[in-house]
Amino acid sequence: MSIELDVLAIFAHPDDAELVCGGALLKSAQMGERTGALDLTRGERATLGSPEIREKEAQNAAEVLGLTVRRNAGLPDSAIENTVESRTALVEILRDLRPRVVVTHAREGRHRDHRIAAQLVYDACFLAGLEGFPAAGEAHRPEKLVHAMTFREDVVKPTFVIDISDQMEAKLEALACYESQFVEGLVQSGEVFPGGSRPLVDQIRVKCAHHGSLIRVAYGEPFWTRETVEMESLGRLEVATF
Ligand SMILES: [Zn+2]
Repeated sequence: MSIELDVLAIFAHPDDAELVCGGALLKSAQMGERTGALDLTRGERATLGSPEIREKEAQNAAEVLGLTVRRNAGLPDSAIENTVESRTALVEILRDLRPRVVVTHAREGRHRDHRIAAQLVYDACFLAGLEGFPAAGEAHRPEKLVHAMTFREDVVKPTFVIDISDQMEAKLEALACYESQFVEGLVQSGEVFPGGSRPLVDQIRVKCAHHGSLIRVAYGEPFWTRETVEMESLGRLEVATF
């Protein structure tokens, strides 16, 4: 039987989801939403760790984030391509997990897997809803696709920010599950994302603190959508101007 997810995070490598939207995923789960993660590759090209170790780490992190399901699409690390084969593989998983909202990479990024995944996920979400698309499963098109913007430095305003002040420590806990990747002293934080030599945990904190400041809270995770976000009324608008 297929799973009807509220939110599915689709990212190139195990630990990407935790880095860019771990707090928001946990918050959704805490609010009773059914959440999942689909890692496109096993991260087998990483300098540190092995696919087996990273699989175990990903499952441990899934527990911290309260994910209903975590799957791996088995695409090649550092060689993700937007092809008929990869689109078909994703369509079949989307038709099985049937998410309402899909979260994926920003459209820009220095890792080519991230950029290509953003387009691949967009295409697969549309195709999954076409009755005639030749892939297993009943047609299903996610209602929304949003791009996670944490750590991006493009001059693009996030469409919205999720307040993760109450989830920040658990987000770091989920990241700490990836012991093979984030070995303090072995990994330079600049390797994970540019921006100075402070310890990785501090780097993540300052980035999330910046995104949080945009909505006047301690920590936040930013997202971008093509479509405009609806607000209920002028009188209920939040986030102080001054
Ligand atoms: Zn990645």
